[in-house]
Order: sequence, then structure tokens, then C-alpha cells
Amino acid sequence: MRVVFLDRDGVINRNREDYVKSVEEFEFLPGALEALKRLTEAGWDVVVISNQAGVGKGLMTEATLEEIDRLMLSKISEAGGSIAATYYCAHRQEENCGCRKPAPGLILRASRELGLDPKDAVLVGDSARDVLAGQSAGCRTVVVLSGQVSAAEAALLDPAPDFIAADLGEAVDWIISDNE
Ligand SMILES: [Mg+2]
Ligand SMILES: [Zn+2]
Repeated sequence: MRVVFLDRDGVINRNREDYVKSVEEFEFLPGALEALKRLTEAGWDVVVISNQAGVGKGLMTEATLEEIDRLMLSKISEAGGSIAATYYCAHRQEENCGCRKPAPGLILRASRELGLDPKDAVLVGDSARDVLAGQSAGCRTVVVLSGQVSAAEAALLDPAPDFIAADLGEAVDWIISDNE
């Protein structure tokens, strides 16, 4: 089984410092839909793993998060891509849950529920937290520069990702070519 764990904000859609709090604020990054289609066509299962502390902070409701999720999934499927599952942590950092990245909890739970081995997976994210979570779960990791980190910051990440990509399209190129 070939699996990619994807962070959401900064990878699939534009990151917002103040959270994506409504359907109107959800904006796909250029090339993201096409990249997801290629990943799907190449036979990779895609699972979204995303921190959404805006819910825990009361900035949006669980229902709004679900509404944004439905919109995202329908647009991805219209464009020929497919998402096997989406997992969200709605907790605030102070709650010290086991599922908020950099903790690997959500990746491990998804792996259990979907019957896959995280060691066969690649995690794509836009932050140090994503890389840490992926590495803790045993995944290979890719950082994209379409979100929170600059190229200079990405080069200094510790632990270092296996690959640095401009965006999801370039990450998918690497994933597909590296695994043929
Ligand atoms: Mg992100
Ligand atoms: Zn959590």
C-alpha cells in the first residue's frame, strides 16, 4: 500500500495565520488539485492529517470545519483526485493532547484504522511540526515552501526532511519518481 499523509493548510490550500474559519476562506493553492489527481492516478492513497486549533479556541465550530472538509473533498473529486480519509485535531496546544502535531498520534491512529504501515508512507507538510510528527511515526517527510517556511528556514530544519519541494506539485513529482 502506498500512502501519502498530507497536511492541509499551506499544502493543499493557502495557509492563514488566523486559521481558515469559513468555506469562503478556503482557497486551493495553484496546482494543488492537479497534483492530487496525479497522485491518485499513480495509485497512491491520500490521507489528510491537520491541526485545527481554531475549533478549540472557539474561532469556528466543529460543524464549520466539517463544512470546509466537505467542500474540499468535493472539489478534489471533481478534479479527478481522491482522499481516502481526513483526520483533524481540534485541540489547543495547551490541552497537551496526543493528536496535535508534532505528536504522531493522528498519523498512528489513521494507520491503525486504515490498516497501513506508517513506515511505507510519505508525509508532506509545510512546517517543522509536520516533519517532526512524520518522523516520529516513521514516515519519510517532504516540506513544501508554499506555506509557513521559507527556503532558508527549510534548509535549517532539524530533523531535516527527506526532500524540500516548492509546492505539492513538486512533492508529488518526487514521490512518484522516487517510488517507481
Ligand atoms: Mg500547514
Ligand atoms: Zn488533538
